[in-house]
Amino acid sequence: MIIVMHNDATEAQIDAVVKRVREQGLDVNISRGTERTVIGAIGDERRLDQELIESLPGVEQALHIVKPYKIVAREWHKADTVIDIRGIPLGGRQVQVISGPCSVETPEQMALSAAAVKAAGCRLMRGGAFKPRTSPYTFQGAGFDGLDMFRKAADKENLPIVTELMDVRQLQTFMDYKVDVIQIGTRNMQNFDLLKEVGKVNVPVILKRGMSATVSEWLMAAEYIAAGGNHDIIFCERGIRTFETAYRNVLDVTAIPVLKKETHLPVIVDPSHAGGKAWMVAALSRAAVAAGADGLLVEMHPNPCEAWCDADQALNPGELIKLMGELRGIASVIGREIL
Ligand code: PEP
Ligand code: MN
Repeated sequence: MIIVMHNDATEAQIDAVVKRVREQGLDVNISRGTERTVIGAIGDERRLDQELIESLPGVEQALHIVKPYKIVAREWHKADTVIDIRGIPLGGRQVQVISGPCSVETPEQMALSAAAVKAAGCRLMRGGAFKPRTSPYTFQGAGFDGLDMFRKAADKENLPIVTELMDVRQLQTFMDYKVDVIQIGTRNMQNFDLLKEVGKVNVPVILKRGMSATVSEWLMAAEYIAAGGNHDIIFCERGIRTFETAYRNVLDVTAIPVLKKETHLPVIVDPSHAGGKAWMVAALSRAAVAAGADGLLVEMHPNPCEAWCDADQALNPGELIKLMGELRGIASVIGREIL
């Protein structure tokens, strides 16, 4: 059972609910989000009387959720969650396009990238300082220096930053640099210890889909973050592994409506890592927005041929501007908007 407390519930009211649940022989998980506290009762739920729990002071609702993911489930939260990123809404009517290079390279490259992201009308910027590369002999990212370059370049254009966290030992520095959105990459979707740690911080998290993960595994991975108290989670479909080898991954467009049905949290799409080629990015982006994605994560480089990582799939600044125009048209016919 999950017990959702009112957003103004007091500590004493939370304690009283926890005590009542424990008296019935169940264990509890207390998830303290910024908006509200959600208490998970773990054990034989038949011992808990839903009406009785709902009558306790401070309780908004109590419900049995049979699924293994609960806080992220739409069952208790019918409305779409809108995550506020420094005043920019993710989820809801607006569609946000997050763009920037695959990896942070140099201060010049980041300054040009930030200016191009801004010029295209994107309101958030991406860039990896720590890169999960398949070969240990390729560029591994500029590391903490990269984080510094990214922060400075993005601040100049007043763009919030999205960057990948690979190791919990980097988390404090991410907090020091005030990273606006932490990205958990496909290779770490089920790194449960990492998920538990980002569950403890008050920073929105983009959780990319594991390249061979089912939708249900993905939802449970998100639940790890939510259970720790961080409820600001954004799902990102980035293509999955199949038998097809003609492109890097298969963009699973079907996952968009399925996730939107299962969860109240925003769902975005990364068309760049899905197709793996720049020429496919526009088509996949258009499909994603038409299918109901709340945003996109698009790789763009000021000079794609010279990118240190994922050069084949990066748009150039002009292509990003053109894509934004097309997406605005699609958004408007489905009742959404891109500013
Ligand atoms: C990335 O966004 O640069 C990245 C490495 O993505 P993924 O984890 O989806 O491969
Ligand atoms: Mn990349």
